[in-house]
Amino acid sequence: MMERRDAQCRRHPERSAVARCRSCGLACCRECVVEHEFRLVCADCLRREAERAGGRGGRVAWAAFGQWVVAAGVVWVIFYAVAAGWRRVPEVFHDGVIWGRETTDDR
Ligand SMILES: [Zn+2]
Ligand SMILES: [Zn+2]
Repeated sequence: MMERRDAQCRRHPERSAVARCRSCGLACCRECVVEHEFRLVCADCLRREAERAGGRGGRVAWAAFGQWVVAAGVVWVIFYAVAAGWRRVPEVFHDGVIWGRETTDDR
């Protein structure tokens, strides 16, 4: 009897199951199963995942966005520090050289 129940859709007992939900493991017919992120999940699990992603402020999307912002900020700070360091040293260096050359050329 267990095998027979597994072979049928849990929502449509008259239909035979074609796939098993990767999330809850229940048998689903062709209408109940949905491909989601390369996984076959049932309609209930798909709705649950959608609610988890969108209902709670899209926490997954925000986490990815936050990681991107942090990474961009770190890169920007490093770039700015390097640029500021490069700019500061040649300015002093060039000023001294230019001033030295101009003063020596004038004299
Ligand atoms: Zn499921
Ligand atoms: Zn079904």
